[in-house]
Amino acid sequence: MKDALWVAPSPGERKDALIGCNNVVKKSFKANFTPIQRQFFESEFFQPITIQAEADWLLNHDEDGQTYESFWRSFMLGGQSVEVGHKRPTRPQTVIGTRSSKSAITTPHKSKTICIVPLGSLPKTDECLGGKSFMLWLKSFCNMFFKKAKVVILPSMSVEETKCQYRVNQLTGKFQLRASDIITHLKKVKPSYAYCVIALTMIDLYPKPSWDFVYGLASSNDGVGLFSLARYDDIFYETWTQGKDVVRNNPDGSLDYSVFGNPILRLDGSSFQVCSKLLFRACKVMSHEICHMFGLKHCIWSACVMNGSNHLQESDRRPAFLCPVCLRKLQTILGFDLVKRYKSLRAWATEKFWEEFVYIEEKPQVQKSSKTGPSWARRSSLPDVTHSTVSSRKKQVKKIVASKPNLETIFASPPNQSESDKQKNAIKVAPPPLDSFSRFQQWLDDAITYLEEES
Ligand SMILES: [Zn+2]
Ligand SMILES: [Zn+2]
Repeated sequence: MKDALWVAPSPGERKDALIGCNNVVKKSFKANFTPIQRQFFESEFFQPITIQAEADWLLNHDEDGQTYESFWRSFMLGGQSVEVGHKRPTRPQTVIGTRSSKSAITTPHKSKTICIVPLGSLPKTDECLGGKSFMLWLKSFCNMFFKKAKVVILPSMSVEETKCQYRVNQLTGKFQLRASDIITHLKKVKPSYAYCVIALTMIDLYPKPSWDFVYGLASSNDGVGLFSLARYDDIFYETWTQGKDVVRNNPDGSLDYSVFGNPILRLDGSSFQVCSKLLFRACKVMSHEICHMFGLKHCIWSACVMNGSNHLQESDRRPAFLCPVCLRKLQTILGFDLVKRYKSLRAWATEKFWEEFVYIEEKPQVQKSSKTGPSWARRSSLPDVTHSTVSSRKKQVKKIVASKPNLETIFASPPNQSESDKQKNAIKVAPPPLDSFSRFQQWLDDAITYLEEES
């Protein structure tokens, strides 16, 4: 069935999005990547996006797609705040600010320091992460993913410090922090040396009173972002706080933040621990958010960590790697070597912790194999695309999202969709590829082998 709302880009459009139409951009593609790397970009290592549920991002959001060239133009004009040429080109785009030398395109960004700040209590991790804290695991992933950038963990920030509004969500009975207030605070405390600051919390978020929740919020113009892992916990929707979460006021009428002072506990009183699945989800969402900070928009070209995501299944389905278009953008900013970066990520994914924990939690499910293609592709074949018509919801969501052009809502749930609707949608879709971590490992192995082959 042909879907009128989401039309996947053709191979020609994907190629144009990667290589560009402008001569400088085309030349730098040849100059910066070897023939085998260019061949790799067009290989079956990079698969088209599949739509699997009505709630999927691309059926609910208008995404024109940011080509490499449109990214480059905004990058050359001074960074992430300039948005030009986001329409998918049907003809060569007019280029502004053309530069003739190759060096112009590899101009390093003024600062490459990424700051991560924990907000509120974070889960206890010592017993399940081989002694390494949750934040250190995230930091080591970011070091590999954003090779050549500096990653710094800032001291924890208390909820009180942000002076944000908070409330209890009526559907979940759980505390939520008003994300826009925290973004305002982050802008004030962002260190001068930082390129961006990303705050991470385990408390659920909302952007404004009319919304049910939001996974995260970012102001890429200011280089600040915030995201919550609350809903990445498998038991989030299964637990109820039994009225324990209550908004309190001090005698002077101000909000009482002492309710956030305690370590995170499960409802039975046991300590909340980070499992490898949650950690891997956190790595993906964090790299996605930081890429936004570097000026990368949502990706429509191939399956990519920069694909938009509307629900947990879609997030899990999204790979942990960048597609060629997005990889080229990041490479332009950071100037890393492709193979060295993949090898670093592979080394990170080989650490003993993963061997012990990932396979216990998620046994890889081997699917029907085909006779050709790399092994990761054979193991990860996804169900056929399911198209559907949801034009009315699409329009409603678009209106609300568009109302705050400067503050991007990340992974937002459609605000008019009830919790039970979301659960229904969750049930409709095929189970997410729970072996996503082992596929990531295999993908890296195959990619490294491919790239190191003598051509
Ligand atoms: Zn991409
Ligand atoms: Zn995003």
